[in-house]
Order: sequence, then structure tokens, then C-alpha cells
Amino acid sequence: TKIRIGLLFGGRSGEHEVSISSARAIAGALASDDNASKYEVHPFYIQKDGRWLSGTLPQQVLSTGKLLEIEQQVGQDDSSTSREFPNFNAVDVWFPVLHGPNGEDGTVQGLLKLMQIPFVGSGVLGSAMGMDKIAMKIAFAHAGLPQVKYVAVNRSEIWSNPCVFPKLCDKIEESLGYPCFVKPANLGSSVGISKVRSRAELEAALDSAASYDRRIIVEAGVIARELECAVLGNDNPQASTVGEISFNSDFYDYETKYTQGQADLSIPAKVSSAIISKIQEMAVQAFLAIDGAGLGRVDFFYVESTGEVLINEINTFPGFTATSMYPQLWAASGISFSELVDRLIQLALERHGEKS
Ligand code: ATP
Ligand code: MG
Ligand code: MG
Ligand code: MG
Repeated sequence: TKIRIGLLFGGRSGEHEVSISSARAIAGALASDDNASKYEVHPFYIQKDGRWLSGTLPQQVLSTGKLLEIEQQVGQDDSSTSREFPNFNAVDVWFPVLHGPNGEDGTVQGLLKLMQIPFVGSGVLGSAMGMDKIAMKIAFAHAGLPQVKYVAVNRSEIWSNPCVFPKLCDKIEESLGYPCFVKPANLGSSVGISKVRSRAELEAALDSAASYDRRIIVEAGVIARELECAVLGNDNPQASTVGEISFNSDFYDYETKYTQGQADLSIPAKVSSAIISKIQEMAVQAFLAIDGAGLGRVDFFYVESTGEVLINEINTFPGFTATSMYPQLWAASGISFSELVDRLIQLALERHGEKS
């Protein structure tokens, strides 16, 4: 009998559309010649409002790649299906193909863990640590990984008290200078991130980031090449070859990430083998530092003028379309897309079997 894979996609985050693209690619791989005899796909679509759908509608979203028309969406007043979680007994392994908050951050992982069904990727702690850039940086620092200077901010310092805000801005200017990057701590795809060069821009960026998250991080800006490394495994994870992203825009923002032709991936990155090895080692350390499992993509800054390698962040469920960095890095390291999906499911089963 086939293993029933609960493919969970969509989600309430700003990365809903990216999740649909990743899920389509993974569904395709599960239906490929290599995998079709082993696995059976059961799609579950989480609407933007958080409602879970199973059955034919998710299949329709997967096959067309488009959101449901308004009249097809399950709404608030639809008492027959609203707020109902799917039948958990119909799934042997969950594959949460969700990016960002309420998906990549430990919330869904907690639900799946509670149901005692194996799932692909990091658990509650790894997902939460890997999503929150402040928690992540504390773990990286503890592991001795070099990174940029930063200031952690709470929304209350921005919105609640008009006396605190100017002091906060003074502190950021003093310790980081310009340019600096203002980010919601829990997000992805560069949503809510601003590069700021003046006090006025800093104030506006903090206000904007606070609309996305209670927790905000401000980082010193570096001039660096952007390198990424993929990690695969549980307690003895492996690192892939290293890739580089290049683009012409000011930074790797949402538009640059998702507009065809705006960014180039070069795999392997054209850097020395010493830098490649160093990044691979740091990627595995970062993965272990946050208690990652299954998969992770670790992003780095390579400051060529000084030879310094700084860790930027980890993503516990990185973009997973056929052209995304994560599967491309593994393809270049000898693991095809369909084999990668198979391995991730096996890793989920292994981890579940170990119990925690
Ligand atoms: P992802 O889609 O990879 O999850 P994210 O939303 O978590 O992205 P980051 O990777 O932290 O965001 O930052 C997005 C981009 O912003 C980086 O790839 C880089 O181009 C730029 N950037 C972020 N922080 C800095 C920094 N401190 N110095 C220079 N550039 C930065
Ligand atoms: Mg990220
Ligand atoms: Mg991300
Ligand atoms: Mg990133």
C-alpha cells in the first residue's frame, strides 16, 4: 500500500502564492515515475483567511496554480465546512509546504506533532527558532557564528510611547549607522524589509515593520556577495554545494526574488574552495544551532574585500519550486528533485520513529 502524503499548502502568510508554487512542484515530484508507486498525494489547502480545505478544491488550486475564485472560497457563513480541521487519519506523513508565519514557524508543526503523525522538516523549536531572526541570531552567536551587528526592537518601543521612540532611533544610529536594514523578525521573501539611509527613512521603516510583527530587528548593512547553502538531514545533516545570487536592484527584495529574469543563480558559486568549505561547515552549525530537521537553506554574506563570511539567516522551509535555490543546490550536488522529496519523507519517518 502507498504512503499517503498530506500536502499542506497556501497558508495565512504573505508568502501564500510562493507556497502554491512550491507545492505544485512537490506534487509533481510525488507523481513522477520514481515516486508514484510509493506515494499518494492528498492535498490540503489553507486559504488566506486560515480555513483548511480538502478534496477537489485544493486539487484545483494545485493543478491551475491559481487561487480559488471568490465564490468558490469557503467563507465565514458556510457552517458545513468552516473551522474544521481535516481528517488526520487519512494521512500517513504530512508535508507542510508553507513559508513564513503560521506555517514555517512551529505553529503547524505543533498541531502535527500533537496528532502524532510524522511530518517533513523541522519540529516546533527548530521552526520557531529558524523563523524569528532575533532568536536565530542569539543561537548563532552562541554557536560562535559571525554575523552583522544588530538591535532588537519591540513594537511597543515604536508605537506605544512617543518619548521612547527618538531614543531608540538615536541608539540605532549610534550603534549601526547607515545604511541599515529594518526587518520584521518573523517573515520571509523580504516582505516588510527596508534598507534605510537617513533618520526619516529609519522612522518610516520601523513604523512599517511594526505593522507586520511585534518583534523587529535592525541590522547594520554590509556590502557583500550573497551565497546560499542547502542542508539535508536530521542529526547528521549534510551540506550541498554553495550557490550565489546576483541582481541589479538595491537589495534582494520581493520583486527581485519573484520577477522572472531579475536575479541570477550561479551554482556552484565562483569563490575559492576554502570559502565553499567554510560556508558548508557554518551551514551545518547553523542548522544544528536552531535544532533544524529535514531541510534548511542558510544564507550568507561574503565580504570579498576582507574575506569575511557572515551568516545572514536560515530558512527551515525555503522556496521549493523547480527553479528555487534549495533543490537546484541539491541537483548540482547529485540529488534530483524527485529523489530530494523522497529523502525528505524518509527523514520525517526516521525522526518520528526516534520519538522525542
Ligand atoms: P528569505 O526569502 O530568504 O526568507 P528574508 O525575508 O528572511 O528572506 P533576509 O534574507 O534577511 O530576508 O534579507 C533579504 C535580503 O535583504 C538579503 O538577501 C539581502 O539582499 C538584503 N539584506 C538583508 N540584511 C542585510 C544586511 N544586514 N546587509 C546587507 N544586505 C542585507
Ligand atoms: Mg528568511
Ligand atoms: Mg524564507
Ligand atoms: Mg534570505
